[in-house]
Amino acid sequence: MIDSGLVTDIRAATDALADRSVGFLCDLVAEGSLLGEEQGAQDLMAAEFARLGLTVERFDIDLDRIRDLPGFSPPVIDSYSGRENVVGLHRSAGGGRSLILNGHIDVVPTGPANLWTDPPFKPVVRDGRVYGRGSGDMKAGIVAYCLAFEALAALGLQPAAPVIMQSVIEEECTGNGALACLAQGYRADAAIIPEPFNQTLMIAQLGVMWLTIDLTGRPAHVLDTAAGINAIEAAYELFDALRALEGEWNKAENRHPCFHGHNHPVNFNLGKVSGGDWASTVPCAASIEVRVGFYPGMTLPEVRRQIEATVAEAVATRPGLRGAKASIRYHGFQAEGCAMDREAPLMTTLSAAHARITNLPIAEMASTATTDARFFQLYGGIPATCYGPKAGAYHSIDEWVDIASTIEVAQVLAVFMADWCGVEKR
Ligand SMILES: [Zn+2]
Repeated sequence: MIDSGLVTDIRAATDALADRSVGFLCDLVAEGSLLGEEQGAQDLMAAEFARLGLTVERFDIDLDRIRDLPGFSPPVIDSYSGRENVVGLHRSAGGGRSLILNGHIDVVPTGPANLWTDPPFKPVVRDGRVYGRGSGDMKAGIVAYCLAFEALAALGLQPAAPVIMQSVIEEECTGNGALACLAQGYRADAAIIPEPFNQTLMIAQLGVMWLTIDLTGRPAHVLDTAAGINAIEAAYELFDALRALEGEWNKAENRHPCFHGHNHPVNFNLGKVSGGDWASTVPCAASIEVRVGFYPGMTLPEVRRQIEATVAEAVATRPGLRGAKASIRYHGFQAEGCAMDREAPLMTTLSAAHARITNLPIAEMASTATTDARFFQLYGGIPATCYGPKAGAYHSIDEWVDIASTIEVAQVLAVFMADWCGVEKR
């Protein structure tokens, strides 16, 4: 374990660089980086990695290299051309343990911009927070790992082992950005993703699957609506049937042990409804896009089997669906859940670093969402977890991140790096 003098120095060096890091976070938020529009922010990341003295590598996602790999999810938009991951490499022959620091640059849609206090891509610093879409999820986490590295450098030190910093695309819909990093061959002895989980240690995450159900009803004139089957109304009826499956998976006896403490770990979300022609015809076609969560250990084929059985039974037995036809397509997330080994050296070393900076024991957290940690943990043979700042309203309106927490995460990551990798003079 590093001596307490170095911990004190890391605190001071991080604090001295904090204002610049907040400015960098605001620059990243202002770049937007919605799905398909990630490159402005990625240019900033490439410049930042270069400024830190890292070797910068950029590559777009080669579908032919990843489509047959475990963990692949069918894309939701057409092209990966020109949509790059950016990686910064620190090289060292110092003999310490190597590390991947990974973050996603993509952000989720803003929702109605008029509901925001300030425009979503106009970052605002107020009351110790940075507001803006992507501030918490998870540009602050990326800023924190850059700051951790820079703080060591300011002390004339560097990790005594390779450190690979990754800024990836598509965490929020497929994970194919992180998968492409695995396919590119990046490996390390551990991986940390500073997702905005309020400085808890992630010990498990649910699986997530996206599916689209296409429903066909029977068209009719509104004179005689009873002659038709309203596909939009049928779609709601069908989602109601899926809600019953959600309820089943949430029952205490059906839960994975990591999720016993949750109120409602498994969430099915009806995210999008489309269909119909105009107001005077009973709509004969509709589609719903659904997100389902499921436990670590449940395989993708098993999840699909249960969903398909639920849909088939509903169509066969529910009066509101009689005569309707339903077919299911899978695109976007096809993400398995995973549970981490709480006693792995990554987890105990990170817990110790948290305690040294905060003087508090670390709290454990089982995530009801997915993260890119699954790629490292399940398919890369790399122990992985998430540890990141306190944030709120991500995936909602007026997203924010706590600045003091972001700086504290940087301090914890710097202490972790010094412990895990060792340090050497620059
Ligand atoms: Zn995230």
